Amino acid sequence: MKSIQDIMKDLPVQASNRARYQEHLRDLMAYPAIRKFLQANQDRINQDYLQASISKLNEFMTSMKTYEAAPAEDKPAFVPSLVLGRHYIDVAYHPTEAFLQARKQAEMGRLLNNRMMSKDVRQASLKDIEWNTPERKALMQEVLNFVEAYEAGQTGLQGLYVSGPFGVGKTYIFGALANRLVESHHSVTMIHYPTFVQDMKEAINTKNVQSLLDRVKQVDVLFIDDIGAEANTPWVRDEILNILLEYRMKESLPTFFTSNFNLRELEQHLANVKGGVEATKAARIMERIKYLAKETTLSGANRRQMGRS
Ligand code: ADP
Ligand code: MG
Repeated sequence: MKSIQDIMKDLPVQASNRARYQEHLRDLMAYPAIRKFLQANQDRINQDYLQASISKLNEFMTSMKTYEAAPAEDKPAFVPSLVLGRHYIDVAYHPTEAFLQARKQAEMGRLLNNRMMSKDVRQASLKDIEWNTPERKALMQEVLNFVEAYEAGQTGLQGLYVSGPFGVGKTYIFGALANRLVESHHSVTMIHYPTFVQDMKEAINTKNVQSLLDRVKQVDVLFIDDIGAEANTPWVRDEILNILLEYRMKESLPTFFTSNFNLRELEQHLANVKGGVEATKAARIMERIKYLAKETTLSGANRRQMGRS
């Protein structure tokens, strides 16, 4: 069996380019990653095979040098490696760990849209939630049941409608649930409903109502936070909320709500508009909410006054 060096010597090279070519080959063969690869695979590489591989080895060395010369914060996304191909040594490109990490981060950002939420809600985690009252325990159980069923691929799952006074942790629990669902790559959006309504009203001027609404209504899991705290108008109720809920029902998409109002109080809120009471239209919305979500309540101390223990 010939050594790699012998094979090199025998490579046919045009006389005119011989010197330059030989030098280039020496560079290639001396390049540490190439030398290591050739040595490790000596018994599977013959002269023809090596000759057919020269341009690929060249590609490998060039890409590797580019990769290594790049500053740490600006590395190429892919790093080359050599593989034994059928007829020649080939170059394979693998995504770098840093690239995969960055892509995961971007994906998480895309999946979760909760820019309307406070920092502690955005960072909430199910494992940090305190289960210290029977009511809280029951709600957590519902949340965990949902996670389990949803991750097992069950469809048509009902969400939850959590009502209770200000500061008891309604939003926080759903923030933790939202973060959990994003970890398993579901698209999740949490909207602070009064803010969303404000955005929608402003979007009328820029003709963005439809696209904003579409984006929210189609996510895998939607959290509608603080429903009932918005200024109710027929347009908001019938053209925004109704469309949103109708779509989610039709597509069996899980939807969660928090509110200071229980369902009966919310119905009154939705019925009251300037100039009168629209009971039928409010009742229609309530039917949808009840279909989409199971009512639960959360009471207890206002945690905002407890000094964030
Ligand atoms: P609500 O939505 O019911 O008005 P929040 O969910 O905003 O109340 O809760 C108020 C604050 O109390 C949160 O920002 C969070 O800091 C804290 N908090 C609420 N629930 C919990 C919990 N289960 N564990 C730890 N901190 C909590
Ligand atoms: Mg809240």
